Amino acid sequence: MEKIIFGPVTSRRFGQSLGIDLSPALKQCNFDCVYCELQGAKPVDAMREVVAVDDIISALKEALVKFPDVDVITLTANGEPTLYPHLDILIDKINALKANHKLLILTNGATIVEPRVRKMLAKLDIVKLSLDCVTPKCFKRIDRPYHDIKIEAIIEAMREFRREYKGLLIIEVLVVKGINDKEEEFENISRVLNEINPDRVDVGSIDRPPAYKVEGVDSARLRELAHKIENLNVSIAYRKDYTGEMRDFTQDEILNLLSKRPQSADDVLSTFSQKSQNILKNLVKDEVVKIETIAKTTFYRYKM
Ligand code: SF4
Repeated sequence: MEKIIFGPVTSRRFGQSLGIDLSPALKQCNFDCVYCELQGAKPVDAMREVVAVDDIISALKEALVKFPDVDVITLTANGEPTLYPHLDILIDKINALKANHKLLILTNGATIVEPRVRKMLAKLDIVKLSLDCVTPKCFKRIDRPYHDIKIEAIIEAMREFRREYKGLLIIEVLVVKGINDKEEEFENISRVLNEINPDRVDVGSIDRPPAYKVEGVDSARLRELAHKIENLNVSIAYRKDYTGEMRDFTQDEILNLLSKRPQSADDVLSTFSQKSQNILKNLVKDEVVKIETIAKTTFYRYKM
């Protein structure tokens, strides 16, 4: 049998993660994203090859004995995990055995339009959805969805899900050069994200060979675009070699910056001079700025 469990892998944003691949033998996805790490494949609306729930549970039990200290158990797939037909019962069985581990799903969000999927996802500790574009043309170019999937319906369902869901909601935006790297698209993305109000927004670009001939943007551009997203906790995936310009901020400048958008610990380390980092530390000590941790990512937020 193909490998159902993988890891633990160290994820900067989630900690130690033990992965469950719900489509270990082949890609089965309702998108065919230009940036996918897997080979391009025609999108489908259902899984045709399905692993048995009992096989997943026994593989997971075995892995948890070996790796009892993982932070999260991550439901993912070579494709889209919510297409797994027994997901509801699988979530119940994992919840019954997971003890202190958090249960996370990485989904492209397209099936969230179905009330039964929203109900299943509501049983998870952390849900990470994707939202690369909010305009139909851009969405079709970047995510190449199964034919009747509409971005307007997905956005509406994400808003609805946020109203119902009590766990941690994270939305990821992946930036592709020449497709969703325009200021206008990002302003629209910011507006929609503020309407949905997730706990964290993860912004990144391509860092592994993509399925189609596309390129990512560099960290400086990623930062510019991510800064269009106001008021929310935004975590930027800087490339390893990125060193931003270290700036000296006064106390007022720091408070002004934080009142517009919380800064992640990575933002602070890559752009605040040592002097500014010390000012920030004092603001935390004086309880003017609070530290918020959203699934292993730290943010500095102005306590207004
Ligand atoms: S949703 Fe994920 S698995 Fe599916 S095509 Fe896009 S990147 Fe690949």
